[in-house]
Amino acid sequence: MAGTGRLKSFSGGIHPPSDWKSLAKDKEITQAPLPETAYVLTAQNIGAPSKPIVAKRDKVQKGQRIAEASAFISAHVHAPVSGEVKEITFRPHPVTGARTPTITIKRGDDDEWAPGLNEPTDIDALSPEDIRNLVKEAGVVGLGGAAFPTHVKLSPPPGKTVDTVILNGAECEPYLTCDYRQMLERTQEIIDGLRIIMKCLGVKDAYVGIEANKMDACEKISSVIGDDPNIKLEVLEVKYPQGAEHQLIKAVTGREFKPTQLPLEAGCVVHNISTTLAIYEAVKWKRPLIQRVVTVTGDGVENPGNFVTRVGTPIESLLSLTGIKEDANKLIFGGPMMGIAQQSVIGANTVKGTGGVLVMRGAETWESHACIRCGKCVEACPYGLNPSYLSIFCEAENFQGAMEYNLMECKECGCCTYVCTSKRPIVHLIKMAKFDLGRQRAREQAKQKAKETAKQTVASK
Ligand code: SF4
Ligand code: SF4
Repeated sequence: MAGTGRLKSFSGGIHPPSDWKSLAKDKEITQAPLPETAYVLTAQNIGAPSKPIVAKRDKVQKGQRIAEASAFISAHVHAPVSGEVKEITFRPHPVTGARTPTITIKRGDDDEWAPGLNEPTDIDALSPEDIRNLVKEAGVVGLGGAAFPTHVKLSPPPGKTVDTVILNGAECEPYLTCDYRQMLERTQEIIDGLRIIMKCLGVKDAYVGIEANKMDACEKISSVIGDDPNIKLEVLEVKYPQGAEHQLIKAVTGREFKPTQLPLEAGCVVHNISTTLAIYEAVKWKRPLIQRVVTVTGDGVENPGNFVTRVGTPIESLLSLTGIKEDANKLIFGGPMMGIAQQSVIGANTVKGTGGVLVMRGAETWESHACIRCGKCVEACPYGLNPSYLSIFCEAENFQGAMEYNLMECKECGCCTYVCTSKRPIVHLIKMAKFDLGRQRAREQAKQKAKETAKQTVASK
């Protein structure tokens, strides 16, 4: 197997217990039952939300576009099931908590694709522009959690050169195993997807980065790469957040760039395993992104598993598949490090970015204490920040001070909170400060706009 010498890594980070993944790692991917009712949110990507283009009582077909991208950094949304639009109403977003316009579809009897979809293409005959268009048409977004529109990542701006594509197979978030299972079960399609990305970007060199706790996946990927000299497998140290773009690029290529910059600055584009498969489905088969693999796991789940799940599936129906233990008391969308705790199972449904549903038991609230300056968080921060100072400034709502300590460079990975001796909710304080700052800025912009409008009105009289 190529590239299995010294394990590559980065500075900082943490080592969560390895057995957390064992709950679901040996569970083969199975299809979850189709939801009777799908709740399709119109904000499923970073950037502008999409705009509904269907109305109540419209009949829709699986894969039909039902909401349109409203800007360049936005993505189309498609019907995950065939059926009828029951209503367009507001539901809480599982990540932001914001009330979000949601298209509710009552499933009908058939599960046929809308016309023109699910047809094979001749990849060799496609131009880079054709590939970008197919990805855009399919509404593909980053499925590692960030949900950044993928067609944008495939469109480097003029003046920026990409020479390396990295396939992110690290899946460093504890408990989650959806990418791992796909590497074992859909290996050929993943490498075909990687070659589609390379063709689109005109890039000759690619790497697949996989953590050393997934050696069976390394073997399978390596056997499919074969003797292709342009794709190299890199086995990485098992460390969180090995799959974050900055850390992965540093580990694989040695290149560094600022936390506020994009991987493009290092000449790299990174896609994770699920996204690469969604690209493959979009380009090879003209299948929009209407489903993905979701790991349902945690010590509060009776039978953890990895399920192909339609977007908009209510969480109750996924949990009825796995069963939950009586004393389960915490539900998280995503993994324990970067996932978002949900207030209730009622009203929560999957979105494109949902790679995991984690159910915990015995989750307790705890008392946090004053910082004792032990420095553990500074050692753990993979971005070289001082989380201790950041938490103190954020707690005091001293945003100016927090900004001087590079608040905006924090990627909210949670390493600092994980190691904190005083159990300080550092990442929570940071997130709240960023949220408050965002609101402050929006208010200032609105004030400024109102002033300008008033000035123009006076001038025009
Ligand atoms: S959450 Fe932010 S401050 Fe804390 S370790 Fe991660 S990047 Fe550093
Ligand atoms: S780990 Fe906690 S107690 Fe230690 S320096 Fe950081 S914030 Fe302070």
